[in-house]
Amino acid sequence: MSMPVYRNYINGRWVNGSTMGVNQNPSDLDNPVGEYVRGSATDTTEAIEAADAAFPVWAESSVQRRADILDTVGSELLARKNELGLLLAREEGKTLPEAIGEVARAGQIFKFFAGEALRIGGEHLASVRVGVEVDITREPVGVVGIIAPWNFPIAIPAWKIAPALAYGNTVVFKPAELVPGCAWALADMLHRAGVPAGVFNMVMGSGRLVGNTIVNHPSVNAISFTGSVGVGRQIQEAATKRGAKVQLEMGGKNPLIVLDDADLDVAVNAAVNGAFFSTGQRCTASSRLIVQNGIYDRFMLAMQQRLSALKVGNAVLQGVDIGPVVDEKQLQTDLDYIRIAKEEGAKLVFGGDLVSQPTRGHFLQPALFTGEPGMRIAREEVFGPVAVAIRADSFEQAMQQANDTEFGLCAGICTQSLKYATQFKRRAQAGMVMVNLPTAGVDFHVPFGGRKGSSVGSREQGRYAAEFYTTVKTAYTAA
Ligand code: NAD
Repeated sequence: MSMPVYRNYINGRWVNGSTMGVNQNPSDLDNPVGEYVRGSATDTTEAIEAADAAFPVWAESSVQRRADILDTVGSELLARKNELGLLLAREEGKTLPEAIGEVARAGQIFKFFAGEALRIGGEHLASVRVGVEVDITREPVGVVGIIAPWNFPIAIPAWKIAPALAYGNTVVFKPAELVPGCAWALADMLHRAGVPAGVFNMVMGSGRLVGNTIVNHPSVNAISFTGSVGVGRQIQEAATKRGAKVQLEMGGKNPLIVLDDADLDVAVNAAVNGAFFSTGQRCTASSRLIVQNGIYDRFMLAMQQRLSALKVGNAVLQGVDIGPVVDEKQLQTDLDYIRIAKEEGAKLVFGGDLVSQPTRGHFLQPALFTGEPGMRIAREEVFGPVAVAIRADSFEQAMQQANDTEFGLCAGICTQSLKYATQFKRRAQAGMVMVNLPTAGVDFHVPFGGRKGSSVGSREQGRYAAEFYTTVKTAYTAA
């Protein structure tokens, strides 16, 4: 049976690229998902020029038209969530329920920004000068370059593309190479929903060719990137040098504090979900569990019991809790960190072994360590099903350990104390804080983003997305 071939979408047309790549299925390496076109620097330049040419008309287009297109895409995503969820699970390795949930979320995001397109507002103020009025309005930024990672193949593109278009920008979108299928499905929906030629373009391919061209092209006015810290920093430097607006969402080493007074079931559920669901491949994963002495033994025992009941396997099969690691490279990184943790003296209390399955895939048992705050396993982002538990004597010490990181995306606490929950929310150095919930798993209609080394620029999602995708104009009128 021939595999689907995913083509690039440039200036309203489906086009071939210079080379081809294979879209692998990490649960079943002998059963790839499809083939995709890898664009060149020339293809990317063509997409940027098309977006630049389309911008003036789209910027002035009716907000009703923008809302209708986004709403159509949102409805289609919701209607096809099972089918597209299967595609997502096959190409990324998330379990089917997680993948279907992600597609539904992408649909809700498109619908949210369909509404926001109709609510682009401003302010009207009296001037300090008699007879003068002041209006503050929002205008689109121009051509937006969108560079996405592989771990949320449809939700992250959705939460960048939908606001970009809603506020009147044109888009050049570069998906991660591991997940071209979901990106193609989104481009296909936008095309059929009637987005005008050039307004939305998608170029698949490498960071070196496609990504770099987007980042350095003078016609790209703003870049929204989600991915690793290393690439993010390079993009920041290049974009800042030429005066482009930049928004970066990068890594995390998110702490989950478990205090002595926590409800044990709530804490174990939050920790297992936050650290290991989606194979731990979430920027918001709770990879540091900071556990107070009084509950430590009970918590660790309950964690081991819960982890031993989890089923690792083929992402599309019913009853599987944890799908495969996304690719060989990430699996090697996970195994390297497991080795480094052991070498540094961390104690492996559960898992960490490869799991064999009827299909060939990257299956890894979740790994839980106990360790010390200074160990690499407690400081560096692994981006896999690997977590470390650290002891704390008191709330104060737990708080200090939670903030002792270069990252600041999300932080959580499990406690029944209003005092400690309130203090935690106030003092946690993170963009998002959770009480009695996993650090991963956020709503689509409120701001998303971090502090410190995790994020640069304004927040994504919800109404706050307008900060990045618009620029403010102040108009004075004497009358
Ligand atoms: P990555 O940085 O390797 O790649 C991200 C994207 O950048 C890909 O599309 C890639 O092709 C592109 N790219 C690579 N080199 C480039 C270059 N020189 N110029 C321009 N583009 C380039 O990240 P990844 O492996 O796809 O994703 C995993 C990382 O993403 C993790 O570190 C994770 O924490 C982070 N992440 C962060 C968030 C968040 O919101 N904070 C969300 C999801 C993932």
